[in-house]
Amino acid sequence: MSLNIALLGNPNTGKTSIFNKLTGLSQKVGNYPGITVEKKKGICKLSNTTKAHIIDLPGTYSLNASSIDESVVIELLLNKNNKDYPNVAVVVADVENLKRNLLLFTQVKDLGIPTMLLINMSDQMKRKGITIDIPMLEAKLNTRIALVSIRENKGLDLLKELLINYRELSVKPTIKFEDIDQHYFDHLKNTFPDQQLYKLWLLITQDINFAKIERKKIIDSIDFKTQSERNLKKLQQKETVKRYQFINNILKNTLVIDKESATDFRSKLDRILIHKFWGYVIFFLILMTIFQSIFDWSSIPQDFIDSTFASLSEQLKIRLPEGVFTSLLSEGIIPGLGGIIIFIPQIAFLFLFISILEETGYMSRVVFLMDRGLRRFGLNGKSVIPLISGTACAIPAVMATRNIENWKERLITILVTPFTTCSARLPVYAILIALVIPQGSFLGLNYQGLMLMFLYLVGFGMALISAWILSKTLNIKSKSYFVVEMPNYKLPLLRNIGITVWEKTKTFITEAGKIILAISILLWILASNGPGKDFSEAEQIVKSNHKQLNGDALSNKINSHKLEHSYIGILGKSIEPLISPLGYDWKIGIALISSFAAREVFIGTLATIYSVESNAEETIKNRMASEVRADGKPLFDLASGISLMFFYAFAMQCMSTLAIVKKETNSWKWPMIQLVGMTLLAYFVAFLTYQILS
Ligand code: GDP
Ligand code: MG
Repeated sequence: MSLNIALLGNPNTGKTSIFNKLTGLSQKVGNYPGITVEKKKGICKLSNTTKAHIIDLPGTYSLNASSIDESVVIELLLNKNNKDYPNVAVVVADVENLKRNLLLFTQVKDLGIPTMLLINMSDQMKRKGITIDIPMLEAKLNTRIALVSIRENKGLDLLKELLINYRELSVKPTIKFEDIDQHYFDHLKNTFPDQQLYKLWLLITQDINFAKIERKKIIDSIDFKTQSERNLKKLQQKETVKRYQFINNILKNTLVIDKESATDFRSKLDRILIHKFWGYVIFFLILMTIFQSIFDWSSIPQDFIDSTFASLSEQLKIRLPEGVFTSLLSEGIIPGLGGIIIFIPQIAFLFLFISILEETGYMSRVVFLMDRGLRRFGLNGKSVIPLISGTACAIPAVMATRNIENWKERLITILVTPFTTCSARLPVYAILIALVIPQGSFLGLNYQGLMLMFLYLVGFGMALISAWILSKTLNIKSKSYFVVEMPNYKLPLLRNIGITVWEKTKTFITEAGKIILAISILLWILASNGPGKDFSEAEQIVKSNHKQLNGDALSNKINSHKLEHSYIGILGKSIEPLISPLGYDWKIGIALISSFAAREVFIGTLATIYSVESNAEETIKNRMASEVRADGKPLFDLASGISLMFFYAFAMQCMSTLAIVKKETNSWKWPMIQLVGMTLLAYFVAFLTYQILS
């Protein structure tokens, strides 16, 4: 036997923890079609003969849609044709907020779906002085209840047993609609005698995508007077009051909270953690620790990955017979794969920390602290994590926007995050600063250091400014209701953390990885092929022109000649008229195009073009310093150097970020807007800079 189970409940009641517990790693995370609400499905064996398909629905407070998340839930529960339509609904409630949680329970049960109640976090009862008369509550709600603690692993056997026997659950509605307005609901019932009354009511009051026609049919068939908007609102309010009366009456006799015996350390901790001054100090200390560790800890596996893939390429080149296939493998595919895998340590570490912050309940405090400041720029309290983790890398940062519920704020955060100075910009900045910014200091502050700091500030500043502009111009309706819900502090559940880290890493590799690999291969094809003799006979040409060269110097010269006449080289040359107003020549043009794969490639490409003997930073720097223009002035001077730094500060020179934005926004539209918008901005600023400084 196989059945569909839907997990429903208010946010933070432990739905995902239960889902993780029941399904382990046999889960699939995707998106609901067309929108970016996360869809989690998994499989659980309830017994030897019963298999369950479980769906973890987004958190909802009620079945009255006010957000995309809630519409997702309503559309599933009303649509019997949906393949995920549940045989049984499990409403998850948290033992400390039973009253509020039961509202959703009564609504789901009134839809005529077999519904059971799962009261989670029973481990908190003793500390909070809570006692519940479960049998009596079951009788009054006319359902079955599993009292569960995921933390202590309690109540899961009962839960499974109740699920297997879901047919025994009553489907009788909890409240009588006739008591709200006898005339209206009698009329509705008589017009559609074979429909569930509450379902009809929801179809009338909610704007539901799939049921547009059905909805119109219903609304048309009831008389005009009773369907005016105001009247409907009033009936809805009456309904909610009625539900709470029902719940209050029941809880009066079944729930006892002994405030005396409750030990509350939460308020004490909150006094510091959301303090107007200390709150920020503590938050920034935590952030600093996190990002330091991400940098430090990831650099070890990253160096390892880097050198492993480099030597793998090297080995393949030596071992395999020379030819297109070897070159594709060793210069296209292997480096491409390396370029994907290298991100894993940072992604894994960032999500390790983020999920710990979320699991402990601290993240809600961060949101509370940061929300007011960031909201002015059209961002959300939670945007602070992506913006700051962007200093390591935009990819995990963009993935970290997932927990921003409001779609518009999330989209803006995704769009502006790549402005923060990521670590791939550092090598480019470092060499350009060393080249064009004089040594020396001002008030004890070193110019070169100041320039670097300035570039970081410019990155953050541009992120905020463009967020503000986007928030004013993007025409996206999405309600931002700021429910300040502060969950209790908890020790994190390791299983949840492990699954988050695993799931994020896996999605990155499978979804963004494909695109990154494809673009790497495309760039390789463009760099390793070229029309005409200059490319195909590069070796003979260089040998006859430079008879005195041999060994490494010769092969560097050949590579340089080849790159110059490859398709990328031709592209780079052809954009020269476009970039010379910025102070760049065609060699920089080639480096700009090939560093679209990743910004740090810029230096490597210049090294190849200049046929530098060794890639050591000192040599390439000297080589760049001696490069002159037609008029004898140095190519890299203050004007062109700073123009180039601004170009890299603003341009979207990172295919991996584009790939992850495509994944996270579920369309090519946003990454393309980002690519074009950021490139234009970069061009404009670089142009102004060069024209003013030169
Ligand atoms: P969701 O928003 O409903 O998906 O809730 P989550 O599964 O994300 O859990 C919210 C928080 O409750 C997390 O910090 C969990 O670690 C915590 N949590 C989940 N189950 C239990 C439990 O049985 N006992 C306690 N004390 N905490 C729990
Ligand atoms: Mg969840």
